[in-house]
Amino acid sequence: MTRPRPAIAAHRGGAMEAVENSRAAFTYAAGLAVEQAEFDLHRTADGELVVIHDATLDRTTTGSGPVGARRLAELRATRLRDAPDETVPSLEEVLDLLAPTPIGLRIEIKTGPDFARYPGIEAALVARLRARGLLERAVITSFFLPVLVDAARAGAPARLWLVAPVVRAAIGSAEAVARLARAAGVDEVGLHIDHLDRNEVAALRAAGLEVGAWAAHDDHRIAKALALDLTVFTTDRPKAALALRAAHLARRPADR
Ligand code: MG
Repeated sequence: MTRPRPAIAAHRGGAMEAVENSRAAFTYAAGLAVEQAEFDLHRTADGELVVIHDATLDRTTTGSGPVGARRLAELRATRLRDAPDETVPSLEEVLDLLAPTPIGLRIEIKTGPDFARYPGIEAALVARLRARGLLERAVITSFFLPVLVDAARAGAPARLWLVAPVVRAAIGSAEAVARLARAAGVDEVGLHIDHLDRNEVAALRAAGLEVGAWAAHDDHRIAKALALDLTVFTTDRPKAALALRAAHLARRPADR
């Protein structure tokens, strides 16, 4: 059986169908037929890798201030606002939930406040994935090419560049996007679904890139991602996206 396309990535574990970046969300995603589960990585003051989206604790937890200013034990004393029986999960806890499944790990390396990088986070992540035999199942993503360069140096086999709309606009041509990506050792890009159309996808593909989308959350945007026949898209509604993809593929069997 060929793999369904586009692949679907449960964004933050499926943030509109579960509590984002929680153990409950990754348990939920683990039970779905998605190809990937996406999550975000920060590092604590004592060097532990943790799964949370924002650089600060304020929005999603009972804590406050930068994630990187707190030790793991301090993070453990906070609770997720929308899942009060949970705290910020460690990377290891999320891997524990996803490792028994065939689901690919789409791991976004974040930065601290003011986009300050966490020195050495790429090598630390690769070491953990390698130790658990999960490195080949992982794709490392980032909005920042230097992060992906360091992930490649550390031995991450798959890297995907998230091209922010403002960055895409500043770069100009699809060929220039591809040149920058390739210079960083990257051949797959992800763009905001609202900034993709057939011409953009064709131009990026002609430049030699694999093309995916992020932020395909509502039915309309999911349908658009399906119609563009992207490599992969991330969505906060993975269960809904699976149903829409099944219907889409059933309508177009001759194209598969
Ligand atoms: Mg992310």
